[in-house]
Amino acid sequence: MKSSSAQKPETKNWISPLRNLLGGKNVLCALEDRLCYAYDGSKQKYLPDVVVRPQTTKHVSDAVRLANEHEIPVYPRGAGSGLTGGAVPVFGGMVLDFTQMNRILEIRPEDLVATVEPGVVTQTLQSEVARYKLFYPPDPASAAFSTIGGNAAECAGGITGLKYGVTRDYILALEVVLADGSIITTGRKTLKSVTGYDLTRLLVGSEGTLGIFTKITVKLIPLPEKIETLLVFFPTPEDAVASANGIISHNILPRALEFIDKSSIDCIKGYRQEIDLPKEANAILLIDIDGEEKSVQKGISFVEMFVSENNAIKVISARDTKRRDALWEVRRILSPALYKIAPFKINEDICVPRSQILEMLHTISKINTRYPGLKAVNFGHIGDGNIHVNVMYEKEEDRSFAEKMVDDIIYSAIRLGGTISGEHGIGNVKSKFLPFEIAPQELQIMKDIKHLFDPKGILNPGKFF
Ligand SMILES: Cc1cc2nc3c(=O)[nH]c(=O)nc-3n(C[C@H](O)[C@H](O)[C@H](O)COP(=O)(O)OP(=O)(O)OC[C@H]3O[C@@H](n4cnc5c(N)ncnc54)[C@H](O)[C@@H]3O)c2cc1C
Repeated sequence: MKSSSAQKPETKNWISPLRNLLGGKNVLCALEDRLCYAYDGSKQKYLPDVVVRPQTTKHVSDAVRLANEHEIPVYPRGAGSGLTGGAVPVFGGMVLDFTQMNRILEIRPEDLVATVEPGVVTQTLQSEVARYKLFYPPDPASAAFSTIGGNAAECAGGITGLKYGVTRDYILALEVVLADGSIITTGRKTLKSVTGYDLTRLLVGSEGTLGIFTKITVKLIPLPEKIETLLVFFPTPEDAVASANGIISHNILPRALEFIDKSSIDCIKGYRQEIDLPKEANAILLIDIDGEEKSVQKGISFVEMFVSENNAIKVISARDTKRRDALWEVRRILSPALYKIAPFKINEDICVPRSQILEMLHTISKINTRYPGLKAVNFGHIGDGNIHVNVMYEKEEDRSFAEKMVDDIIYSAIRLGGTISGEHGIGNVKSKFLPFEIAPQELQIMKDIKHLFDPKGILNPGKFF
């Protein structure tokens, strides 16, 4: 754990005005409180000097203005589920915890929009709008605990990306506290607006480095009438990938199209013996089709026929929520099941053009042969070309060896026309790879934008660049 400056005299200069502005109960300085905010899903640990729990936009504005005056680093934080270190306070300073700002401010069914505070949990928004038969499609696997603020800052993806797009496609307007504490709004609460530069799209995915979201207006769409699921087992990954591509080229756009490789299947078998997986299965596709009832049935029948003609060993279908949940369990347990292989992992989320997926999978296998003792396990949103590669290793000392293997995988993804991150973001974990994907001139434009928004560099320093 990196140390804090909480005991330094200069820290005292700003903590006491902070308490006066926000009230003592919203400013936490005790070590046990700060320890709770020292980590995120990336498993790094850096202790903040203070944790601020704003209740209002004014609280955020006051805290950030003070931080700017004293040049204190500010680290916005939702649920801390980010996998690339976005919320970890690498230079100490102030963590702004948004879990108290968790109100759904309005749902306007006639306008197909909802406005929320950033700390609203994604699944809460999804269930609340479903009461109006409306749908907020972005669905990261962390939806049960991650927040809309964190999703917006990371431009989170998830299983519905192929058909419905990602978080950026659903954010219409933002209220943002800038680095000097001033408050701006971007975008409109309309389904269309092309007035001026699109600051909303720039801010979404900026990982808390350009501004801090205090209100978020999202677009909603009608809730699909029906969802059905197929779990399909294949003898080879080639068959699974060919089927995935074939389904889409026959004009069926699944709500979810997930791939699970042989190593992942072995992990599931070791973790939950009661799940019945055919011995000969070396790859799985998990497919959701949604929409109007008749079209779902037509889509499901076509996919069942198509995968059978493409060497599927076994197809299990589920029409109701309970059976669908049981099939999705296979995908859900993957993260914990991976630890059956080894106690440590590096989790990557490369994304390649869908035509390059098979080449990417073969390349990962070839790379793996150069790293004895390590194991790459692959699964992910194959419809988007987004593969979660997990490099598993036995001992902490093997970390740098595993990192070398990850470097090779990432360079290969870029060579195949892909990207270093489909959805998990850059944070501090992937910043070293940025210059490999982004040309110097483009990178300089990004740095200039950062400087324009945040001249003193107080917003989430240590991330991106
Ligand atoms: C089990 C698991 C499954 C996951 N599955 C997916 C998945 O399918 N798809 C996917 O995309 N990701 C996934 N993730 C990663 C993670 O859940 C997402 O990145 C999520 O968007 C982070 O939300 P959070 O509320 O936890 O944000 P945090 O981790 O707290 O923060 C993430 C970033 O957002 C910034 N931030 C937070 N709030 C604000 C704000 N109000 N204003 C400005 N910046 C802010 C932070 O500074 C940080 O840079 C998964 C993580 C886990 C642990």
